[in-house]
Amino acid sequence: MLNIILLGPPGAGKGTQAARLQAERGMVQLSTGDMLRESVASGTPIGLKVKGIMERGELVSDAIVSALIGERLDAAADEGAIFDGFPRTRAQAEALDLLLTERGRHLDYVIELAVDEDELVRRIVGRFSCAKCGTGYHETFRPTKVEGVCDVCGSTEFKRRKDDNEETVRTRMAEYRAKTQPILPYYEAKGLVRRVDGMGPIDRVGAEIDAILDGAA
Ligand code: AMP
Repeated sequence: MLNIILLGPPGAGKGTQAARLQAERGMVQLSTGDMLRESVASGTPIGLKVKGIMERGELVSDAIVSALIGERLDAAADEGAIFDGFPRTRAQAEALDLLLTERGRHLDYVIELAVDEDELVRRIVGRFSCAKCGTGYHETFRPTKVEGVCDVCGSTEFKRRKDDNEETVRTRMAEYRAKTQPILPYYEAKGLVRRVDGMGPIDRVGAEIDAILDGAA
């Protein structure tokens, strides 16, 4: 059982790779962004609190996201967890260490997806997903096979994230540089960081990640 973090700026491919690992290896994707979006959509007290923060592209509080991860961590006990979009600050990294230690678990790898910022803006601004099954697409890089029809479930309804516009994306990147990138040395000191070139095609990035998880890199 492996517990890994996918670390990288918005649009680096964390969600895409986490969904693939979940499908292919049965690992469980724990995305705080998805959890928060669910809270917003269902109008829970947490959802009401974080809605505006997310729309601006700022980080929500460490306490909220750490509690969300704590609630879901046990569901990922057998096959391992992929932390996608968490931790994003040093305090969250420390909270995660504690949550894992309390359960007799530990982190195996922190996989950093290295990418170019302008390319990221292009990637993010074209993103959309199936409103029914959640499969992710991109206007240029990953269109549906038949225009307007989901490849997976056949639905014709799609949605876009509210924070996938250029202005918010720039804020999200600035947050990444200021608060998330500085946690890399924390994990480097533990010997956990593996760097992957996130600019290549999805399959190549996936193969590099697989090689790391299979102990070949
Ligand atoms: P994501 O889907 O990972 O890009 O997250 C979307 C938004 O949710 C971010 O821009 C933040 O506002 C919020 N968010 C998600 N995960 C975290 C986290 N670990 N810490 C703080 N804010 C988060």
